[in-house]
Amino acid sequence: MALIVQKFGGSSVANAERVRNVAKIVSDTYKAGNDVVVVVSAQGDTTDDLIEKAAEINENAPKRELDQLLAAGEQISISLLAMAIESMGFPVISLLGWQAGFNTNSVYGAARIKNIKPNRLQAELAKHNIVVVAGFQGINRYDDLTTLGRGGSDTSAVAIAAALHADKCQIFTDVEGVYTADPRKVEGAQKLKEITYDEMLELATLGAQVLNNRSVEMAKKYEVELEVLSSLNPVPGTIVKEVANMEKMLIRGVTQDKDVALVSILGVQDNPGVAFKIFSKLSQKNINVDIILQSFGRNGTKDIVFSVNKDNGPVAVELLEGLGFLGGAKIVCDTSVAKVSIVGAGMESHPGTATKMFEALFDRGINIKMISTSEIKISVIIDAEEADRAVTAIHKAFIPND
Ligand code: ADP
Ligand code: ASP
Ligand code: MG
Repeated sequence: MALIVQKFGGSSVANAERVRNVAKIVSDTYKAGNDVVVVVSAQGDTTDDLIEKAAEINENAPKRELDQLLAAGEQISISLLAMAIESMGFPVISLLGWQAGFNTNSVYGAARIKNIKPNRLQAELAKHNIVVVAGFQGINRYDDLTTLGRGGSDTSAVAIAAALHADKCQIFTDVEGVYTADPRKVEGAQKLKEITYDEMLELATLGAQVLNNRSVEMAKKYEVELEVLSSLNPVPGTIVKEVANMEKMLIRGVTQDKDVALVSILGVQDNPGVAFKIFSKLSQKNINVDIILQSFGRNGTKDIVFSVNKDNGPVAVELLEGLGFLGGAKIVCDTSVAKVSIVGAGMESHPGTATKMFEALFDRGINIKMISTSEIKISVIIDAEEADRAVTAIHKAFIPND
């Protein structure tokens, strides 16, 4: 007998028929003699709808109240799924995040799991119940509800798998696994049999929504092997693990991220300490800077350009405008950009990889504004309008069509 954690995303429980479909998958797993813990997200677009509802009332809703509201989405799913499982004749209990022992820090809207007290989960499993847990939520030390950030149910599932030393953690979604690009957008995207934690972490961080990046980080840390698969089509999915077969691929995937802003500081004094003062100010305000470009000094001045999350663009500009020593410089923010990236452990040993990517862009007349590389990824910043075309072109250059 094994202990299996199964997570189902919003589209997998979007309506009554889908909830019954999930109940069937779960109860089949239980019937086969396994202990089963199920983690579910809010139905369909519920979380987006709740965010919209909040904005209708208060554009700047307090984050604590927003978490109180958003946690309701997952509460609906767990109770409905438990009712469906019960109607099929299986013993089941639903638990909210706090009932399942999820303790988090107090960063409302982006809380981190501190620990899971697994007593209740273990007690329910000992009673042979199927346990259905609300993803995306926990409780802080003030006994207030918190949420883990968008896509956080993946992290809830991995955290439970780690805490209970589960034999398997299956992430069921609306596509058949992890693909070489978003299969809904890129024709010819191919399903991967396997991928390493490190590659998956890059893909998730750089825009592949299929897994939340924190869940991958946690899976790597606690050595939880993940399987990403479809809740609608019972075929083998993708395994995420430490070492993965490269399947003769130079890269593992292409991603795009439109949640980017470019901030330019033009004509700043070419003196020592300028970069230090700028970026320490930004980090004091928790603004995470991604790619940085600095020009050579000329006639006593230079330009510094950097990328941040879109929301942080205007905040960064306001902060910089308050810095006296930047007085003579021009500060501008461009939010119409996107980051397009390729990821793959194979590129480390293939020197032509960057050239091939840049050539694909050049062939389509797409201009590169910034470039950043690491051992297993290359990212470029381009016009947001060109992002879809760029991804398709790069994918075609690297992934041969079957
Ligand atoms: P869930 O609701 O199950 O958590 P998500 O919407 O968060 O599902 O993630 C699944 C979606 O991720 C897919 O529908 C797909 O459009 C998108 N996606 C983006 N990049 C990839 C990729 N490389 N492989 C698979 N899916 C991807
Ligand atoms: N319901 C939450 C969201 O939409 C959590 C999740 O889906 O993982 O972000
Ligand atoms: Mg998701």
